[in-house]
Amino acid sequence: MRTIIEPFRIKMTEALPITTRGAREGLLAKAFNNVFLLDAECVTIDLLTDSGTGAMSDRQWSALMLGDESYAGSRSWRRFEQTVREITGFRHIFPTHQGRAAERILAATRLKAGNVVPNNGHFDTTRANIEYVGAIATDLPSAAARDLQSEKLFKGNMDLDRLAQAIEAEGAANIPFCMITVTNNSGGGQPVSMENIRRVKELLDRHNIPLILDACRFAENAFFIKEREQGFADRSLLDIAREMFSFADGATMSAKKDGLANIGGFLACNNDDWADDFRNLLILTEGFPTYGGLAGRDLEAISVGLMEALEYDYQRYRHATVEYLASAAIARGIPIVRPAGGHAIFIDAAAFCPHLHASDYPGIGLVNALYLEGGIRAVELGSVMFGKPAPDGGGEIAAPHELVRLAFPRRVYTQSHFDYLIETLDVVWRQRASIKAYRITEQAPFLRHFTAHYEPADGCERFLRS
Ligand SMILES: *Cc1c(COP(=O)(O)O)cnc(C)c1O
Repeated sequence: MRTIIEPFRIKMTEALPITTRGAREGLLAKAFNNVFLLDAECVTIDLLTDSGTGAMSDRQWSALMLGDESYAGSRSWRRFEQTVREITGFRHIFPTHQGRAAERILAATRLKAGNVVPNNGHFDTTRANIEYVGAIATDLPSAAARDLQSEKLFKGNMDLDRLAQAIEAEGAANIPFCMITVTNNSGGGQPVSMENIRRVKELLDRHNIPLILDACRFAENAFFIKEREQGFADRSLLDIAREMFSFADGATMSAKKDGLANIGGFLACNNDDWADDFRNLLILTEGFPTYGGLAGRDLEAISVGLMEALEYDYQRYRHATVEYLASAAIARGIPIVRPAGGHAIFIDAAAFCPHLHASDYPGIGLVNALYLEGGIRAVELGSVMFGKPAPDGGGEIAAPHELVRLAFPRRVYTQSHFDYLIETLDVVWRQRASIKAYRITEQAPFLRHFTAHYEPADGCERFLRS
């Protein structure tokens, strides 16, 4: 059969709130026009993130009951360690309460002020943890990623030439480690090829720089490698994932993505000295090394989820849902990042709203229009999330792209939900000229997008520079 179906049926339901436009107008105003500040109960289809929002399987729910809540050396920890080792091959494995805890431990133990960490594309919390200790997070995406419309297959790749230049310019001693994020979230959820990972590792080896994989979507990346990279069509996703990890010296992971769990993560490495430092800080901030901030039952659910994420039928269905929405958007001329990424659709808000300048935060305007029209919650990845204060103190520097992400929770929404979403997009697209400019009235010093307050700014103040 050519129709790709959800490879599961539904055994338990959760009611969706259906609201009116009038109600949504009041709710958004009360949330200072920032959808992060809305109560989830006010959201009909929540595409804010694919992080921790997935549905667990019956196998995961039953595994929860097997959770061993012993403080030290629990059976659930053994199962978790075995599963993570089977997939990654790493010698030292540390559970953490989520991905950023792993990043914090890595950054706090390995980095000093002034160090540089190259990455194909730092995730926001990764960047924040690196910058928090005074180090510099550099993004080196491949040139193909800059053209949002090109149909290149591995637009998440690291730019090898720029990596070589960065090593030359900084000196290897100032680069305690390099990272590759699979898939590359900030670049559009785009995959990284096995060849690219291998060649980055070869280059780093010549300078003795360790490679850390930000592995949050390792299974989705493995699926893309199987579908798109020569020589992998007949390999299992587990086998491909193992090869990806074989090039890395360590990994940070959020189990809220390809762990198919609602919480959890891990930090892993091969180096014994690094492991000692990780363990000491883990005990201080997360918990004893055999639970690391997680309940035994969480460790069980993650162990099952990591393996389910590597099931081919699951990944094939997941990718089909992303493609379904992408092709509907493309058919209407809606500008999206192409080809579609692994976990989300990224709308090019700058192209969607040509009447708005980057300083009008077109991503916020589009996000808010989607909420008002259909109760859909999306997220801006543009100049609010990635804009920077100009070094001379004169305003802000715009982000390279103004994107809006519709992230897909795993195994949660059905095709009719996507049809509703397509109808909403259709209406917002036809009325795009009315999408408003916004300005920030309140913001935090970092990760400001979570808590900023906005107000509509009809005057379009142009305080950003591109
Ligand atoms: C989610 C994510 C993280 C951080 O993980 P949390 O569990 O949210 O702390 C890091 N890197 C990438 C690529 C992610 O998607």
